[in-house]
Amino acid sequence: MIFKSINPFSQEVIAEHEVLTNIQLNKKLQLSESAFKKWKTTSFQERAGKLQNLAHVLRENKGKLGLLITNEMGKILPESIAEVEKSAGNCDFYAENAEQMLKDEYYDTPFKSMSVYDPMGAVFAIMPWNYPFWQVLRYAAPAIMAGNVTLLKHAPNVIGCAKAIESAFLEAGFPEGIFQQISIDIPQVESVIASDIVCGVTLTGSEMAGSSVASLAGKHIKKSVMELGGSDAFIILNDADLEKAATVATQSRMLNAGQACICAKRFIVTEKVADEFAALFAQKVQLLQQGNPLQDGIQMGPLARLDLADKLAEQLEKSLQQGAKLIVGGEREKCNFQPTVIDFVDSNNVAFQEETFGPLATIIRAKDENDAITIANNHRYGLASAIWTKDRENALQLARKIEAGNVFVNSLVRSDSRIPFGGIKKSGYGRELGTIGIKEFMNMKSLIIE
Ligand code: NAP
Repeated sequence: MIFKSINPFSQEVIAEHEVLTNIQLNKKLQLSESAFKKWKTTSFQERAGKLQNLAHVLRENKGKLGLLITNEMGKILPESIAEVEKSAGNCDFYAENAEQMLKDEYYDTPFKSMSVYDPMGAVFAIMPWNYPFWQVLRYAAPAIMAGNVTLLKHAPNVIGCAKAIESAFLEAGFPEGIFQQISIDIPQVESVIASDIVCGVTLTGSEMAGSSVASLAGKHIKKSVMELGGSDAFIILNDADLEKAATVATQSRMLNAGQACICAKRFIVTEKVADEFAALFAQKVQLLQQGNPLQDGIQMGPLARLDLADKLAEQLEKSLQQGAKLIVGGEREKCNFQPTVIDFVDSNNVAFQEETFGPLATIIRAKDENDAITIANNHRYGLASAIWTKDRENALQLARKIEAGNVFVNSLVRSDSRIPFGGIKKSGYGRELGTIGIKEFMNMKSLIIE
């Protein structure tokens, strides 16, 4: 069996990658086991030195690696290069902070008591194609800094990126087996989760994939972290800076051609300012230049695969049949989907209920502030949200009422190495990044000494 990398803009096959046989896969699992035995005994200093080397290798090669990302999944080259830089930054962050984050914790008891953090083995990661470097380094940098090793099953359309990340680890001086990419097919996933060396599984992807992998993790009693889909609300209240909100709304919906879990997807606007916001938003979206992601001046590339563009086109068609009004875009040629805005969407509309993974923005009109919060929370997903208002005190109160893992006020929703990231409801569970992110796959061992 073969996985193909297909350039989404030209539709050319750019590489083919063989899927591992079960015998090859077992060898990789054995290598993980022997690598872990040594790696868990290394010092924080030694691991930090290698992770900083990795950050250096990524930065030195950001042009080449950025080009690979763009060719495999279609995002514009500046976004690809920025992704490699952000991944390097995450390596530096955990290299500098892991020791402090995992220091022993003491308790106030009449006897001596404390917790220590032990690494547990191989973290098995199942990752998507939309941020093929960032999603990987987001979990791998803390896992490896903590003394674990890892196995990566990347999405089949970005195996070139997976191989490039593995090569970067080796170039940075990591021993073989610390980071291994495994090109495997879905039926092989259970044998990896079941393997004794695997201590847990982290999946970033759709709700369907999450449900299936979380079931397998439960069956084999393995810890799991699920970073799943979202349909983030972007709430605009009467007193918002509409010009700025429309600029950030455009960025938040259209970056990476709309293919991010934390892209704003539902723009919930109070009635009083809805017409004005819709006009400003439409104007900005209309100006976006879509085309060849390698060409200077292009702001949005194609969607990553034809089937994704097909699905988005179907969602758009249904939502228009259900009464939404098209105000910008709507055309599509192969993977190139025009940046699109629809207005007068209600909560029964498919574009409201389903995650739309591409450049389709939906405007929903709310009666007032309370109605806006109710509409935002009336959803199966709970990843992130944004609130736009000049009243920061009120924003804080409203933010507490939002059912999501992350809420931003007057700002673009984004992930940051220092701050925990993750969702609730069908957006998953567990957290990445920050201190909590490095502790997800550790044995917090309590020691009591009389
Ligand atoms: P996807 O189809 O779920 O694929 C993600 C990964 O899961 C791929 O490696 C895929 O491999 C694998 N996979 C799918 N079904 C599986 C199964 N039954 N068992 C084991 N592995 C399985 O998602 P996608 O289309 O690549 O990515 C888009 C989704 O990811 C969106 O829903 C987006 O919101 C979500 N996402 C979430 C976050 C977050 O941090 N919360 C970040 C980025 C993306 P195959 O392709 O081989 O099936």
